[in-house]
Amino acid sequence: METGIFDTHAHYDDKQFDEDREQVIDGLKDIICNVVNVGASLEGCKRSVELAKKHSFIYAAVGVHPSDCGEMTKEDLDWIENTLTLEKVVAVGEIGLDYYWDDVPRDIQKKWFVSQLEVAAKHNMPVIIHSRDAAADTFEIIREYKERINKMVIHCFSYEKDMAKQYVDMGYYIGIGGVLTFKNARKLCEVARIVPIERILLETDCPYLAPEPNRGTRNNSSNLVYVAKKLAEIKEMDVQDVISITATNARQFYNVV
Ligand SMILES: [Zn+2]
Repeated sequence: METGIFDTHAHYDDKQFDEDREQVIDGLKDIICNVVNVGASLEGCKRSVELAKKHSFIYAAVGVHPSDCGEMTKEDLDWIENTLTLEKVVAVGEIGLDYYWDDVPRDIQKKWFVSQLEVAAKHNMPVIIHSRDAAADTFEIIREYKERINKMVIHCFSYEKDMAKQYVDMGYYIGIGGVLTFKNARKLCEVARIVPIERILLETDCPYLAPEPNRGTRNNSSNLVYVAKKLAEIKEMDVQDVISITATNARQFYNVV
C-alpha cells in the first residue's frame, strides 16, 4: 500500500493563504496524508487549532516563536498549556532561539523558550524547535531536558553534521525541507547523509522555503515530493520508501494514527 507524504511543519494560517486557503488545502489530499500546522504567534496558534478542527487530516502544534515572544505573557503561556489538552493538538511549537533576526532580547527569548519547554515536559508532549544562528545556546538548553522530554525535532535544521549527530544520539529528530534541493545545500546534504532515515521528518515550513524547481514561489505541502526525491537520491533509497518511512516517523513522533 502506498502511503502519502506527512508534512510535519506547515503554516496554512499564514496570510499568504488568505485568498485561496481552502482550495490549496483541498488540493493536497491526493499526495499528502497529514499536515501539522504549527503556530508561531499566539494568533497563529489559535488559527492552527481552527484549521485542525475543520480538516480531518490536519493537526495543530501550539507555541510562541522566539521572534514573536517579545510581548508574551503568563496568560499566553496558560492558554498554551490549556490548549494542549485538545484532541488534535499534538505538540508544543515552534519554540526556540533566533539570533539571526535578533529582534527580541536574548534573555527574553531564553525565558519563554524554557517556560514552554517546562509546559511540554509537564504534559509529556513532543516539541518542535526553531533554532537559527543559536546552535550553542539551543543545545545547552535542550540538553537539560533530555530526561524529561523524549521527543523533539530540530525543525529546518541548519547546523553542522556534528550537531545533528548529537541530537540524534539524544533520540531526537531532524526536520528537513526545501533547502535540501537548493544548489548551495552541501552542508544539509551531509546532514541528510549521516542521519538515519528513521530520525528524519519531512517538512515544508510553507508558505516559505519552496524547493527546486519551484524555489521562490509560495510553498505548499505537495512540493514535498521534490524533497523526498532528493533525499532518496542522497540515501540511495526508493522514493516511496522514503515517503512511507518518514510518514511512519511522523506518526510516531506526533502520536497520531
Ligand atoms: Zn515554521
